[in-house]
Amino acid sequence: MSELHRGLRPESRIVHPSVEEVAVSRPLGVPLHQGHVFAFPDSDALAHAFHGPDRGFLYNRHGNPTVRSLERAVADLEGGAAALAASSGMGAINTVLLGLLRSGDHVIAQRSLYGGTFATLADLAARWGVEVTRVGGDDPEEVREALRPTTRLLYLETVSNPVARVTDLPALIAVAREAGVLSVVDNTFPTPLLCRPIEHGADIVIHSATKYLGGHSDVLAGVAVFADADLYHRVWHHSVELGAALDPFAAWLTLRGMQTLGLRVRQHCASALDLAGRLAAHPAVGTVHHPGLPGHPDHELARRLLPDGQGGVFAFDLAGGREAARTFVGEVRLASLAPSLGGVHTLILHSASTTHRQLSDEELTAAGIGPGTVRIAVGIEHTEDLWADLEQALAKL
Ligand code: PLP
Repeated sequence: MSELHRGLRPESRIVHPSVEEVAVSRPLGVPLHQGHVFAFPDSDALAHAFHGPDRGFLYNRHGNPTVRSLERAVADLEGGAAALAASSGMGAINTVLLGLLRSGDHVIAQRSLYGGTFATLADLAARWGVEVTRVGGDDPEEVREALRPTTRLLYLETVSNPVARVTDLPALIAVAREAGVLSVVDNTFPTPLLCRPIEHGADIVIHSATKYLGGHSDVLAGVAVFADADLYHRVWHHSVELGAALDPFAAWLTLRGMQTLGLRVRQHCASALDLAGRLAAHPAVGTVHHPGLPGHPDHELARRLLPDGQGGVFAFDLAGGREAARTFVGEVRLASLAPSLGGVHTLILHSASTTHRQLSDEELTAAGIGPGTVRIAVGIEHTEDLWADLEQALAKL
């Protein structure tokens, strides 16, 4: 019986069970610290902990040991100084944007961003007085022309959804750096195993860890990695107010998933490229949008920027157009008709009627999305089983 328990009634003792320390051995995996609050030995230590992320764990909105392990792991993979985890990819994106921008600021953002990010920027423009200029992902001169004295951020995605256009990160980021503008890159699709934007000059890298990092479609999480510790501290202060903190169990699941990231990414890449090649040779298929194929407009750029693999997401156009695409996605059996990507399961969808339904016909054309475009996020099932599934669905058209 501990000193504290002596003389206490059962109702009190059970509220204060002893917390077992691991002494002789050590845990092999990262322990799950699910409790949201931490007790301090004295008032000065508690007061000190309020002032920063590195002064002792206090309350989970400020930091948590399990979540910190995830933050350190992703920062390490990306080559950053520190990272902040959030309750979702959108949580990380909003933490960064709201933490760094104020009314009157100007943002240069890529046209083809993920829908949630596109909507957030549109909302910041409509309701909060942040001005946004849209640019493509391949022309540094377009970025230079968009610069204003009030430009604060350049916002890019390494690979676009669904047609897998590759952004010329080094060229675009160089223009921003020269002008003293911070660059933010959403690197969800390639993962840090295929591309590390900080090596190309990015200041902040964002992940929807819901996707490849977690990898099993069972957790929602986001991470922002900072090249510079001061920038991390600025955004950390805002994150405490915003309150989009990641739950420790979600961080634990993400860390567990990340242990197999290397194996999974290798399989996603190999299978996707193999299936893309077979689809390109099928008579029911038109263009296949995979940057690993020689005909893709960013094939050369991908060889430079993504030499170890181009990821697991690509798109293809069915020759029969919209009706063929909608029939096809209903006929697959091993692949599932579902949004999201990056997990072990192969997921498929018709872009124009689902993820990109809010775009006009002109906007769809500008985004490279046709009426028959199908997006596939290739999982880790056996490639031959996946091909058999795609082939039998193509045979129904
Ligand atoms: N960024 C990209 C590239 C995404 O594809 C997504 C979601 O699909 C997000 C961010 C948002 O992530 P979450 O759904 O975890 O909020």
